Amino acid sequence: MEPLGRRSLLVGAAATVATLRLQSAGLALPGPRRSARLVDDPFALGTATGDPSADGFVAWTRLAPDPTNGGGMPGGPVAVGWEVAADPGFASVVRTGTVNAVADLAHSVHVVVDGLAPDSEYWVRFQADGFDSPVARGRTLPAGGTPPLRYAFVSCQNYPAGYYTALRGLAGDDVDLWLHLGDYIYENGGTGPVRSQGPDEIFTLDDYRNRYGVYKSDPDLQAAHQAAPMVAVWDDHEVDNNYADLVGENGQTPAQIAARRTAGYRAWFEHLPVRLTAPTGPDLQIYRRFSWGALATFHMLDGRQYRDPAPCGGEIVECADRVGTGRTMLGATQRQWLADGLAASSGVWDVVGQQTVFAPMPLGPFHNLDQWDGYPDDRELVWGHLRRRPNPVVCTGDIHAAGVARLHHDLEDPDSERIGTELVGTSVSSTFPADLIDAAEGLIAPLPWIDYVNARQRGYTVVDVTAERLVATYKVVSSTATPDGTISVAHVEEVEARTPGQSPPAGPPATTPGARPAGRPARPATPRTGRPGYTG
Ligand code: CA
Ligand code: FE
Repeated sequence: MEPLGRRSLLVGAAATVATLRLQSAGLALPGPRRSARLVDDPFALGTATGDPSADGFVAWTRLAPDPTNGGGMPGGPVAVGWEVAADPGFASVVRTGTVNAVADLAHSVHVVVDGLAPDSEYWVRFQADGFDSPVARGRTLPAGGTPPLRYAFVSCQNYPAGYYTALRGLAGDDVDLWLHLGDYIYENGGTGPVRSQGPDEIFTLDDYRNRYGVYKSDPDLQAAHQAAPMVAVWDDHEVDNNYADLVGENGQTPAQIAARRTAGYRAWFEHLPVRLTAPTGPDLQIYRRFSWGALATFHMLDGRQYRDPAPCGGEIVECADRVGTGRTMLGATQRQWLADGLAASSGVWDVVGQQTVFAPMPLGPFHNLDQWDGYPDDRELVWGHLRRRPNPVVCTGDIHAAGVARLHHDLEDPDSERIGTELVGTSVSSTFPADLIDAAEGLIAPLPWIDYVNARQRGYTVVDVTAERLVATYKVVSSTATPDGTISVAHVEEVEARTPGQSPPAGPPATTPGARPAGRPARPATPRTGRPGYTG
């Protein structure tokens, strides 16, 4: 949604939620209704800030003393006070208010804080019925200029698969903001190597809410949210694996997918600090844009809600139906929105935050058709807009492996001008099938536009941006099997800013762990198809 500077006190259902600003400083809250008297700490899911603008951000919490089992809240509205301060000790409170948390929104609260100074840090806390929330750091965007930016991006945090050590690392890296590129939850049931997310696949709104309750109870995830504002888009598992528009797996009907979208989108809204209006049906526009002054414009995309079904079932196969069909990943409306935003962008860098791998990634004769390789016609249209910008950078999640691709004017011609870069981040905890690691790396690493590939490790990516260069630091965790894994740097990718018509100098040869060894031969093409349990 844009513009991000829109002044409104609150996102959410206007009919059921209202904000009262207190005239005086402090939190002279009206007493909660007797029926709403809380016994246990309602802030079990922490606090968060998100969708920053130059004058504010969204401050989020949800009252849920029993978050994995319906929330544990009484039915009536509960008054929640909020404070924004210019210091973490709240000596200098600059904004306050109260808002009603209501059952219709699972007692979640999205306060759109405005009137703040640009390019400044703030701290947020809530209070309800005598309980104080944890403090979350907020931050406003620069209104202009090119001050340096440090952001991180993550994706794919399968809860049973591993601990969120990557998010703990992110929380300690002093980032200005972070992107979540989807698979914030997984919809399937089950127990993994380290913990359980519940026995059953989820379908109803209550199911999805309880699943967010499981995930958001994680202390490392809460720490990341409390460290910096985040900007979230979803991938497939916030609803159902690899769904496309109203087409799902295993013979589900369009009506069934619509019902899951309605539940999944609603629960996603309720649990993330997004500057959006609560959805009441199977549609929610989440593609949106923000700018870090004149340094970088971020275009956040939705590659699931509007896509045509992938060719050949979205499998990893050889597929003659891949090209020439006009299949769309983004849908015409979103693609035009992206084109318009790129044409109007004045950022040195244009960062596209999105889900699936953008660069061509032939696996011998096969392609992963759930990725942009399944939508090459749409990719050509999108790339045609992106390559008009001096420094397009695509940030990608989904695939549970890390990589860097140079984006040339003609994507599969490494002799054509190098225009931009795709940074594929590995998963926070979700696994890459162990028996496919060697084959995948062996096929991808020799591609002439690939600088780095690493399917072996989990982690996150920190990106330092100036007007002169972008430095992406790929951080990995030693293990997700224990909560005390350690974090190290697996790869550093440096990209010099270019001016239009000018190629950047070639980077130094990559020599870091997992990088492509020079001259390494391709291994035989042996990807398998339809692998059970691999849900990217
Ligand atoms: Ca995915
Ligand atoms: Fe995933």
